[in-house]
Amino acid sequence: MAQLARPLPIISPVNRPFWEAARRHELRLQRCHACDRFWYPPGPVCPRCWSRQYDWAAVSGRGAVTSWVVFHQVYFQYFRDRVPYAVVQVELEEGPRLLANLVGATNADIRMGMPVEVCFEEVTAEVTLPQFRPRS
Ligand code: ZN
Repeated sequence: MAQLARPLPIISPVNRPFWEAARRHELRLQRCHACDRFWYPPGPVCPRCWSRQYDWAAVSGRGAVTSWVVFHQVYFQYFRDRVPYAVVQVELEEGPRLLANLVGATNADIRMGMPVEVCFEEVTAEVTLPQFRPRS
């Protein structure tokens, strides 16, 4: 039988603080000291002003669905018995957009602008995945 390992993110020196925060069930993103904006995905410089001065600041975890896709094709065997499943793009109140799974809702429930909040799925000792769930 084929190994059904879940595909997991690759943790690098640049994104490690993001994943360490997720293990604590905190959503933290890089915030630029020069222009005071958050950015995601993690990178070594602010994508707007190229400053290298930033910190990892907690964000609200609240946002809205701005796009989604429902996967029917099985690209990884782990998902063989999980299709069709949704991947949503969530625009956080702070601005950056993240891709994640939506939990606590059916694929038919998903709407543009749907209010959501972050929640966390502990997958391995190293990886806890930020996910999103509906909020009222
Ligand atoms: Zn900046």
